[in-house]
Amino acid sequence: MATAAFDTPKLKAYPVIPLVQVGATSHLKPFVAGAPIQQAIGFPEALVDDWQAKAIAKMGELLGKYRSLQVYMDACVHCGACSDKCHYFLGTADPKNMPVARQDLMRKIYRRYFTFAGKYFPKLVGAVDLTREVLDEWFSYFNQCSECRRCSVFCPYGIDTAEVTMAAREIMDSVGLGQKYSNEIIGKVHRIGNNLGIPGPALENTLEGLEEDTKEETGLDIKFPLDVKGAEVLLITPSADFFSEPHVESLIGYAKVFHAAGISWTLSSHASEAGNFGMFIGNYEQMRTISLRVRDAAKELGVKRIVVGECGHAWRVAYSFWNTLIGPFDYLDSRYPVPQHICEVTDDLIQRGALRFDKSANDDRIITFHDSCNVARASRMGNMPGGQFVIPRRIITTVANHFHDMAPGTIHESTFCCGGGGGLLTDDLLELRVKGALPRMEALNQVVNEHGVNFMATICAICKAQFTKVLPAYGFKMGMVGGVHQLVSKAILLGDK
Ligand code: SF4
Ligand code: SF4
Repeated sequence: MATAAFDTPKLKAYPVIPLVQVGATSHLKPFVAGAPIQQAIGFPEALVDDWQAKAIAKMGELLGKYRSLQVYMDACVHCGACSDKCHYFLGTADPKNMPVARQDLMRKIYRRYFTFAGKYFPKLVGAVDLTREVLDEWFSYFNQCSECRRCSVFCPYGIDTAEVTMAAREIMDSVGLGQKYSNEIIGKVHRIGNNLGIPGPALENTLEGLEEDTKEETGLDIKFPLDVKGAEVLLITPSADFFSEPHVESLIGYAKVFHAAGISWTLSSHASEAGNFGMFIGNYEQMRTISLRVRDAAKELGVKRIVVGECGHAWRVAYSFWNTLIGPFDYLDSRYPVPQHICEVTDDLIQRGALRFDKSANDDRIITFHDSCNVARASRMGNMPGGQFVIPRRIITTVANHFHDMAPGTIHESTFCCGGGGGLLTDDLLELRVKGALPRMEALNQVVNEHGVNFMATICAICKAQFTKVLPAYGFKMGMVGGVHQLVSKAILLGDK
């Protein structure tokens, strides 16, 4: 199928290693952030005059700050174990999308300016000068990495290309070469409070509308509270959950769970976004500033615990970084872990017999589950036994009768990225997104053919948005993706039912 100006790859059985096509995606790059976007988040408005010296100095700073980056630059033995593990390489065949080649874009600069051999014998060690051509190549290929970390699972030295990509993006931002999509979103969070730029009054209206819709569906007064002081739970969820399909179905599911369990909860108009694109651009200061909204909201509202909705990278930031970014959490109830994932809350209530379901309500669905990268490889242990491989699947099999996993090698920590993570969910990168989704689509196709699967559940807003866009390109129905709490919402028994 042709999608816009490019051909969608043909589905085959995984794994098919493509024949290398040099330069296949060298034309792909995201839009550069303009002056107002850069200015709004404190970055240089455009490429600075002395960008080369500044970029090298920034690299030196990061090498000193992050020991891991220095190790990654030195430790690779070019064994090739990672080379066929990236979905972007499998989908595009461009050898520069092999993780080792992506790292080498930085490694050859590192060698030139930070190693003895590279300074005096550059050709011998593959070291090159940081030229404008190299910088442009960085902007292209470091924006063809979704920071999914699949390659790191297969590297015998644990080299994490995602961290190399984050460092490269941080260096580029520091000299004024920013990526429009991510930086614009960060600006919206600072200005308005969420990625989608929904102002407080619009959010209030939306939540009132949801209360009316849910009343019509259930006959019950299920609340979608905003800025309620003294609530037990502060829910931090991706702003996509507030209005767009299929995301909003999950928000309705969370509300029903809280209602059924008698847990008081609230959203915050100040922290109306779980996503944190500061991580995608490798900028800890941005990550911290965005995270601080959550701490401020929790204190202001006087909640006892903080729960994170279905968002992969938000959960990673919360689980892996909140403690150092915005801890300690001594103002919350110490009986609960910080943060908690909404799936942990629901699963715990299920285990304690606090929720009732009619599984047959989901009988029209034959379900599979897509493990989202940032949950599966960066924060999967969570706070409960089994972690995030077991919990979402246990919820699904509690609320539905028909579930089939995709093939081994494509699930759990080997899961394939949806193709739109890491700040690449933008239409200027649509070709990359469609092609990068190929391995996941192949695994999905297999379980569709074998079991008649017609619904793919996931717990990430970016995965949901990306699949909604790319599923039709591969001949699947756009509506076959949705959240785990969408399934919960359908089957949960409320009131006297
Ligand atoms: S982190 Fe993911 S997208 Fe980036 S190189 Fe590794 S496998 Fe590819
Ligand atoms: S698997 Fe690790 S050591 Fe081997 S080429 Fe890839 S990054 Fe280098």
